[in-house]
Amino acid sequence: MKTINPFESAMLQLDTAVSKFKVPFGPSSARGQSSKFKDLKEKILRLKNPEKIIEVNFPVKLDNGQTKVFKGYRVQYNSTLGPYKGGIRFHPQVTPDEVKALAFWMTVKCSLAGIPLGGGKGGVVVDPKSLSQKELERLSQAYVAAIAADIGPHLDIPAPDVNTNPQIMEWMVDEFAKQIRSSKFKVQSSKLTRTEVLATFTGKPISWGGSKGRTEATARGGLYVLQALMERIASSVKRQKKALDAKPLTLNASPTVAVQGMGNVGGIFARLASDSGFTVVALSDSKGGVYNPEGLDVKAALLWKDQKGRVSDFPGPGRQKSISNEELLELPVDILAPSALESVVNDANAKKVKAKIILELANGPVTPEADKIFNREKIYVVPDFLANGGGVIVSYFEWYQNIHNQHWTEKEVNLKLKEKMEKAFGEVWKTHINTKTDLRTSAYLGALTRILKAMK
Ligand code: NAD
Repeated sequence: MKTINPFESAMLQLDTAVSKFKVPFGPSSARGQSSKFKDLKEKILRLKNPEKIIEVNFPVKLDNGQTKVFKGYRVQYNSTLGPYKGGIRFHPQVTPDEVKALAFWMTVKCSLAGIPLGGGKGGVVVDPKSLSQKELERLSQAYVAAIAADIGPHLDIPAPDVNTNPQIMEWMVDEFAKQIRSSKFKVQSSKLTRTEVLATFTGKPISWGGSKGRTEATARGGLYVLQALMERIASSVKRQKKALDAKPLTLNASPTVAVQGMGNVGGIFARLASDSGFTVVALSDSKGGVYNPEGLDVKAALLWKDQKGRVSDFPGPGRQKSISNEELLELPVDILAPSALESVVNDANAKKVKAKIILELANGPVTPEADKIFNREKIYVVPDFLANGGGVIVSYFEWYQNIHNQHWTEKEVNLKLKEKMEKAFGEVWKTHINTKTDLRTSAYLGALTRILKAMK
């Protein structure tokens, strides 16, 4: 299998969506159609290039007294709709193109969610499992010190992503506060209030200004979208509408789900899905997975993973067995929820996928080649920037609460999240029906329209 560049995949998705545009954008003045097309072309070109790429190399003192230099990135992709927004990933395979792709997807995600934020993303090339807690703390602080001049509550607002969490956000916001107090940042420091300093990062612990419901938000939002999709499918099957041109999709009464990746997103999604009546039959982490066709005891599996650091040998009754991550993707399930890394479903394995719905909880798990196969097979792929938009929506709520010194209850947060997810899904579904394009292209059409119209 050839190496898949996530930024190239993202740009292919963009090209596919742009090819479906009927109405060109740009000023509707006396200028003719051709100048409108020129406007559209120019705007798309801007969307193909990040506004700013920051590369930093920073030293971190290790526990053995030696110093190691780490490489980090922050990509500020597009700020048409508001300040840059996006998580920070710690992973040995972080590359500039991966961060660019993730920052681009944040741009369309915020637009689709209807929140006033742009797209950004950060990454550090590191295997955090090789560091002690103290080393991880110093690495987090050193990265923030290196990018501090480029972030802020009205400029660029980071959050957690793969291998980062509320504890790391606490270290980061604390370091940011120290940095802006230093003489280097005098001007900025005199302007920022305490709550604005807190609002520079989201996904913080509640005691540090975090929002209730943020930890579960990505998974919860994904579940809301999945439930909304299943309702639409059920009612269109009932009415026997051929308009969808979809395979009559019959799901089990308690639909089966396989979840790849069981971190913040996948682990919580498995728990929420199981609590909501789905049968979670498979779970995995980077070391492998576990499968039981009758359903797993999800809470016990999560506890096992917490205690042992892996899930593959989680024991259970009947036909429960260990499986590889590749096998998990090919299980006979109703719903597959890839919730780990990019490009795991690609031209090499897409034909073997048996799921009827793919819920992209990770960013970029399905490549454009695989998308083509699923479109042919009429398999629903709920695109990442719709399916996992709950994380950034509640991050926006957190930012808003910090800035306005408000504290919402978890119930309020979840209600507002549900409203936003269902609205975004409703728009995508409407476009899907009207244009007969797949869900990803339909989602792009809505998200791009908003950005292109706002672009000066
Ligand atoms: P995490 O670090 O909490 O968890 C990642 C999980 O994936 C871990 O269980 C890890 O063991 C597993 N994993 C890693 N490599 C794997 C592999 N090759 N096969 C199977 N499993 C593997 O990260 P997360 O925050 O849950 O993020 C997961 C995905 O969701 C990423 O694509 C991220 O960008 C996306 N996402 C996260 C959020 C968020 O709020 N955290 C929001 C939107 C999107």
